[in-house]
Amino acid sequence: MKFYVTFPPGLEEVVKQELQNCYKVKIEKAERGRVYFRGSEKLIPDLNYWGRYWERVVWLLHKDEVKDLEEIYKKVRSIDFSFIKPNQSFAIRSKRFGEHDFTSMDIARVAGQAVIDSYLSSKNKRLEVNLDEPDVIVRVELIDNLLLVGIDTTGDDGLHKRGYRIYQHPAPLNPVIAASMVKISSWKINETLVDPMCGSGTILVEAAFIGKNIPPGHLRDFAYKKLFDMEPTQKKIREVDLNLIGIEKFKKHVEGCKKIVKNLGLDIKIFQGEAERMHEYVENVDVIVTNPPYGLRIGRKYITKKLYKDFLKEAYNILPSHGRIVFITPMKRFMRKIANKIGYDINKEIKIEYGKLPASIFLLKC
Ligand code: SAM
Repeated sequence: MKFYVTFPPGLEEVVKQELQNCYKVKIEKAERGRVYFRGSEKLIPDLNYWGRYWERVVWLLHKDEVKDLEEIYKKVRSIDFSFIKPNQSFAIRSKRFGEHDFTSMDIARVAGQAVIDSYLSSKNKRLEVNLDEPDVIVRVELIDNLLLVGIDTTGDDGLHKRGYRIYQHPAPLNPVIAASMVKISSWKINETLVDPMCGSGTILVEAAFIGKNIPPGHLRDFAYKKLFDMEPTQKKIREVDLNLIGIEKFKKHVEGCKKIVKNLGLDIKIFQGEAERMHEYVENVDVIVTNPPYGLRIGRKYITKKLYKDFLKEAYNILPSHGRIVFITPMKRFMRKIANKIGYDINKEIKIEYGKLPASIFLLKC
């Protein structure tokens, strides 16, 4: 079977490694926030339930170049949809990237008709369309002139909607990026990991899930269940005491973060304090993984630059020689300048699209 997974563009290497090492699949291509691969149908539940580093798992039915809407209709019409049960409903979810003289709504319209016509000819039955709560989601994506048609095995809510955010931070990090940052830091479970600007604690929660081997999808449901009668593999939770610590300046977020951590039954220490004075709250730190404020609001740039500078100096003083920092920011030029000036080795810079914002994930070594 062919599949692709989607994720914020830039994380291709993280995703490829995970798919190869943990799922033993045959990777065909990785580009623009998608990894295409071949694997067994039996992987579908695990790819969803255990998937930390991707947002969506799509069973790929067709991948081809097209010129216009007419060709989209023809390609979709040629697909055999007889695996959908006659009493099931479907919906097209379409997306378009690049310049076209038609909209994604136009794609959904022609693709929807093509699915109905294909099913009518193979099963002699008109499939019901249900845009709100479909049994089957047919995903149609047009990336420049590359057409992807597949079955979304995840559902309308991507896997980054983990279901644990009972406190809503105003600028939360996508958990897929948070988990990827922990992976990029090469954190080992016996090492102390600190997020000194932890907000609602996404990075710490994801680190705890990784460290304790907790499936990130254990609080939610998946679309594949309507088509495949299969269950994910259950693995033992790793009974280890982790050293995970969060620092956050504002009481409201400290309380929100504690609420999330408590609700998940995780042992993560959270302090109210300032990243620039980390030594007052933590000792023996091995790894820092953090998502600082971006200073995008007018008048905040200066304050943010000062925060980055003071925090990086403080971290340099408290980290041991094997210490690492993983840091995500759109202020890339400033970050490179200041990290070099303090004496860090910029071991990696991964350019990532986060929403519409071009940011970088930096891996700094002391
Ligand atoms: N990753 C977090 C999450 O998913 O909820 C969001 C982090 S948010 C982008 C940055 C956080 O840094 C904010 O919660 C902000 O209050 C906090 N912050 C700002 N200045 C700080 C400082 N000097 N020390 C510690 N925290 C600070």
